[in-house]
Amino acid sequence: MDGRAFSRQAALALGLALPLAALVVTGLGVWKAREIARAQAYVVRLALPAAGGRLDLPTIYGPADASRPLVVIDAGHGGHDPGASGAGGAHEKDVTLLLAGAVRDALLREGRLRVALTRDADRFLVLDERADLARRLGADLFVSVHADAADNDQAGGATVYTLSDRGSDALADALARRENRADGAAGRAGDDGTVASILVDLSQREMRSRSVAFADLVVREGQGRIVFHADPRREAAFVVLKSLDLPSALVEAGYLSNPEDAARMADPAWRARFGETVARAATIALARQEAAR
Ligand SMILES: [Zn+2]
Repeated sequence: MDGRAFSRQAALALGLALPLAALVVTGLGVWKAREIARAQAYVVRLALPAAGGRLDLPTIYGPADASRPLVVIDAGHGGHDPGASGAGGAHEKDVTLLLAGAVRDALLREGRLRVALTRDADRFLVLDERADLARRLGADLFVSVHADAADNDQAGGATVYTLSDRGSDALADALARRENRADGAAGRAGDDGTVASILVDLSQREMRSRSVAFADLVVREGQGRIVFHADPRREAAFVVLKSLDLPSALVEAGYLSNPEDAARMADPAWRARFGETVARAATIALARQEAAR
């Protein structure tokens, strides 16, 4: 084979090899792209569970000093979950947002504690996300704010609930079932099965006694400021409180089904007194905890 013949053959071979190599590379590229797409599709599925992924942390208001205790106020319901409805057409989700804002404002006026809201707009959060936000913020106290509704329009006044695996009475159990159903609207757990799994173990006793102390303070500080139910301190199995390892309570500010309660909750002056009540109770409870350290 002379040099020219060799280079012709080489050129021919190269001419065949190059497209072949290109084909292989392209093929590999397509295969790789598919693998990446498959991997990405998989990762996307993992990163976006039904809960909608991790939420951005909310704004912390109050003193810049991060050593100050932090209160997280949770406005119940929101978005496609309106919560209870009143005879006057009021939705619980709107009332709770206003009440949570009143608590925040009162805490800022007191000026001793830091405060954050789980939501400050009309949006939906599953129950676990609310507790998760408090945990990630390193909260010292969690207060979930709600407004009830009952068939009996005579039922009225505020009630402060702390967590228990068993309700104080059938009405408390029924209320917890209604509140826990919030997640049902999103097709997630939060039904009676979840409630049945709630166990308050020994390690939670300390948190439980602090929660009870705070709840009792809300009732004490609210005397003469807001109107309470005849039996204002009760317990029930609330999903929103169950996973918290910090003191917590759920406050039903009143009954939307009771015209007088509904009018009170619609009144900014009453809401300010409600905010003051919770803020004072939080300030005293956390001051006691600090002193006990
Ligand atoms: Zn509610």
